[in-house]
Amino acid sequence: TDLAHIRNFSIVAHIDHGKSTLADRLIQLTGTVAERDMQEQLLDSMDIERERGITIKANTVRIEYPAKDGHTYVLNLIDTPGHVDFGYEVSRSMQAVEGSLLVVDASQGVEAQTLANVYQAIEADHEIVPVLNKVDLPAADPDRVREQIEDVIGIEAHDAVEISAKTGIGIPDVLEAIVTRLPPPRTGDRDAPLKAMLVDSKYDSYLGVIVIVRIIDGVLKKGDRIRMMKTGGTYDVDDVGIYRPAMTAVKELGPGEIGYLNASIKQVRDTRVGDTITHEKKPCATALPGFKPSVPVVFCGLFPVDSSEFEDMRSAIEKLALNDASFSFEMETSAALGFGFRCGFLGLLHLEVIRDRIEREYDIELITTAPSVVYHLHMKDGEMKELHNPADMPDMTYVDHIEEPRIKATILVPDEYLGDVLKLCQERRGIQLDLTYAGSRAMAVYDLPLNEVVFDFYDRLKSVTKGYASFDYQMEGYREDALVKMQILVNDEPVDALSMMVHRDRAEQRGRAMCEKLKELIPRHMFKIPIQAAIGGRVIARETLSAMRKDVTAKCYGGDATRKRKLLDKQKAGKKKMRQFGKVEIPQQAFISALKMD
Ligand code: GDP
Ligand code: MG
Repeated sequence: TDLAHIRNFSIVAHIDHGKSTLADRLIQLTGTVAERDMQEQLLDSMDIERERGITIKANTVRIEYPAKDGHTYVLNLIDTPGHVDFGYEVSRSMQAVEGSLLVVDASQGVEAQTLANVYQAIEADHEIVPVLNKVDLPAADPDRVREQIEDVIGIEAHDAVEISAKTGIGIPDVLEAIVTRLPPPRTGDRDAPLKAMLVDSKYDSYLGVIVIVRIIDGVLKKGDRIRMMKTGGTYDVDDVGIYRPAMTAVKELGPGEIGYLNASIKQVRDTRVGDTITHEKKPCATALPGFKPSVPVVFCGLFPVDSSEFEDMRSAIEKLALNDASFSFEMETSAALGFGFRCGFLGLLHLEVIRDRIEREYDIELITTAPSVVYHLHMKDGEMKELHNPADMPDMTYVDHIEEPRIKATILVPDEYLGDVLKLCQERRGIQLDLTYAGSRAMAVYDLPLNEVVFDFYDRLKSVTKGYASFDYQMEGYREDALVKMQILVNDEPVDALSMMVHRDRAEQRGRAMCEKLKELIPRHMFKIPIQAAIGGRVIARETLSAMRKDVTAKCYGGDATRKRKLLDKQKAGKKKMRQFGKVEIPQQAFISALKMD
């Protein structure tokens, strides 16, 4: 295909605004998939993606569209991950295309992720076509949303396309807009040495690693010997092809095209998003700019509830890591929880996704310790150490000062909830950077410590705004603050899994809340149990769980035998999920609940 008849684009949207549904419609209307093979959300392949309605990894699909001008165009859609945790991957996949459809739910308007994603598109120099979706809904107000796009984002929106991805209204207009309003690939020389961008990669259990590439110059064919310019790896290409959306082998991929290659690459770790692929024999002169490995920013310990499942868990984690180079892990032993893994993630969603997959796909129940960010410890001897686990915190006498990562958070919220949002940000040590209004919505921009966000910020934000706020963030670098390690002692035994780094001014409050919660969560024993929070050797909060006096079954007032048996069975089932701490047994649920701070 010549460049003039290629359009490469992505769809950017806030979660739930209809990105996947629109992609489905585009695929359907162009007959890319036979009607009988059509299933909802073709591009969201992982179960968890379907369930949560989010896109985790970029996918791509080629569509052929006979346009009104009589030419058939090749449209390559890259479905970018919609979440902030995958920010670097979003920005790379944006570099692989020239235009974006900006999908905004016409009944909701612009949200935090709309902004975050459209700014990435603008940064990548995209031509942008605004699309107002869900016009079938009675609450849709396309005129208001047009105005909002112009006010808040600052792009022209009077010719936004009005559609319903659900009913199919306006989909032909979207296809025409793609060919008439988005540009073809800007450059591309067939005769130049091969220069291709590694856009994404994924692991297939039959084929090994599949690499998604965007060809800039030259031609990629089966049998070629290629080199990854940054990692240095060389491979023989077994196959090249395109997604329609099923994998379909093709003879070659030329300039401007997007497709896959398969070269018996063993693990996703060997492929780096943003790397440049060229021929080993006749390489291109310069690599593409921008290449950086994704670094984990949130760490937590994952332990099997049933310690006999440790080996199963190891194999589950190794398999997941094959397909996810941005997830790191190493073995960890905890006095309280036994053998497990210290894992690093790109963010909270990423953490949740991995944890859920281990629990669901591998059927292993997990205990998750408090998520922690990476602190910079500046030691008195001048050395800087990264702290990934509060349990490794050295004695404070050796530490000169501690720096913590900060984020820039953007929150959009209806006016009436603004007060509560500002209060929440204040409580989380936030510094207000900006506050503006757009229609009946306010946009607050805050500088916040990441450590105050990793606990339950999303949950709190959702609950104080009844689900109407949207939130997005980006990492902003490190800043010094007064941080200390807080330990929790149950019956005078430190429970390492509950150790956490906190700000000195918030320690007492956190400690008190934690002790109160644990008092509720730990079942009574035959003896009195002190529960304490301490910094160094100093106790800052204390609760006492009194001893059990009577047989619990006494609650059943003797009479009802089945109720009594049920209660005993329940206790027995509960026992299995208990963890022993010295003389005290703590149910697994106590950890899960205790680690959810509020
Ligand atoms: P994504 O998160 O942006 O990929 O959004 P989805 O495509 O998963 O859509 C989110 C929800 O909105 C789903 O329940 C869709 O069925 C629904 N939806 C998508 N488009 C429309 C539309 O045009 N009208 C209506 N009423 N619902 C829609
Ligand atoms: Mg989706």
